[in-house]
Amino acid sequence: MSDSTYDLIVIGGGPGGYVAAIRAAQLGQSVAVVEQRASLGGVCLNEGCIPSKALLDSSELFARARDEFDKHGILIDPPRLDLPKLLKRKQDVVTRLTRGIASLFKKNAITQLSGSGRLVAGADGAPPSVAVTSDAGETTYQARRVLLATGSRAIEIPPLPFEPPYVVDAAGALSFETVPEHLVVIGGGYIGLELGTVWARLGSKVTVVEMLPEILPPTDREAAKALQKLLEKQGLSFRLGTQLTGASRDGEQITLSLESDKGNDKLTCDRVLVSAGRRPNTEQLGLEACGIELEQGRIRVDDDYQTSCKGVYAIGDLVPGPMLAHKASEEGVVFAERLAGQASRVDYELIPGIIYTHPEIAAIGQTEQQLKDTGSEYTVGKFPFMASGRAKAMNATDGFVKVLAAPQSGRILGVTIMGPHASEMLGEAMAVMAFAGSARDVAMMCHAHPTLSESFKEACLAALGEAVHA
Ligand code: FAD
Repeated sequence: MSDSTYDLIVIGGGPGGYVAAIRAAQLGQSVAVVEQRASLGGVCLNEGCIPSKALLDSSELFARARDEFDKHGILIDPPRLDLPKLLKRKQDVVTRLTRGIASLFKKNAITQLSGSGRLVAGADGAPPSVAVTSDAGETTYQARRVLLATGSRAIEIPPLPFEPPYVVDAAGALSFETVPEHLVVIGGGYIGLELGTVWARLGSKVTVVEMLPEILPPTDREAAKALQKLLEKQGLSFRLGTQLTGASRDGEQITLSLESDKGNDKLTCDRVLVSAGRRPNTEQLGLEACGIELEQGRIRVDDDYQTSCKGVYAIGDLVPGPMLAHKASEEGVVFAERLAGQASRVDYELIPGIIYTHPEIAAIGQTEQQLKDTGSEYTVGKFPFMASGRAKAMNATDGFVKVLAAPQSGRILGVTIMGPHASEMLGEAMAVMAFAGSARDVAMMCHAHPTLSESFKEACLAALGEAVHA
């Protein structure tokens, strides 16, 4: 048992936990963070958002040099790949960022406790303590409050247990030591498409197998369908409405048994990425002993992020909502501020979602499908990048901006952007929507020319029936 009592112990140093810890420390709390990995930053920094984007950026440069430079009149010998160097650059980016969090902890006087944490129920209604287990043994720490932020991990599917380097989760697919000849991606969600794109650009044949009839189910249907066509042009192939029923491996060769309306068949490959969803890390945390309730596998919390056990809170991938790093961080900040008596809240209607393929899809608010399902009235304004001067100059004209607005007030209800730098362009839509702005508000703003962001203004003009350039 340690002598010190903290105001707050956070279990899990990912984007939810580390951000909550920093904000709580800024607000005067004494804070410790328990993390079982060697580095801070969770899945996001170590094996998720950051390394995947590092590989997407490197592979995009490689593919553009190979496939596009000549269109710009730049003639080069075909580029060659130095995969170890490309992977090292990715790892260097991760290391710099995770070290950055460690120095933020120092600056904010946050104690890092290395090991695996679990709740130990307190006697007579006392808040639980936290047992931390590491190679050095087990130590128990006292805290006035405990925040659970242990995140999630990839789901393993029965016929295909993980068997690195042959059958891997996303972490494995971020580190293949050679370019797979044929990579099969199980799951047509954003993680599978992003990592499938990386290896297709670097030379793999990539097949995406998806149980549903469409890819990217929550995304605007028009954008998802258009993206599928563009990814097919980039060399990915899709087996939709197809279920995996069995698998076997013989040396380097994996044979997958597939079932669809068209019948049963087999697919052979040398690597499989299983990205069929993620499961919250709720096991071995001592939840039952503390009476913490789950709802569909995730921890139920109230508006303060308090669980059904007084003094124990939870955020991030552990609790309901999209499993995204910025959602986890936002909850971390709001948790700490509400603890300090502030009236902060997360606006769950305005959590952006991005797919970092080429082109990117970025969306916020409601999709057309959601508005239809709820019987809401809306007008649509669309602007194709084909009509954007900047997109033409960039030779990046695939995609469009779609604005959904309320017919009377013009208030923007949802925006989907498929196109170059869509992830960055979405910032303007986010700001306008956060201030309950309308298509007219955007239409009245002078946008710089030539920029991609003019396309957002044009889509708003289109929603008002006043499109100029389309
Ligand atoms: P995590 O990041 O999972 O962190 C939890 C931490 O808790 C981990 O470090 C874990 O080691 C630690 N832990 C678990 N149990 C214990 C324990 N008992 N004791 C001590 N420590 C423990 N999201 C985006 O927003 N944008 C993206 O572009 C994006 N890309 C992604 C790409 C990939 C390939 C993947 C896999 C995910 C991606 N995500 C992305 C999702 C994002 O990574 C997660 O939503 C986010 O990391 C969740 O944050 P968290 O703090 O809840 O948990």
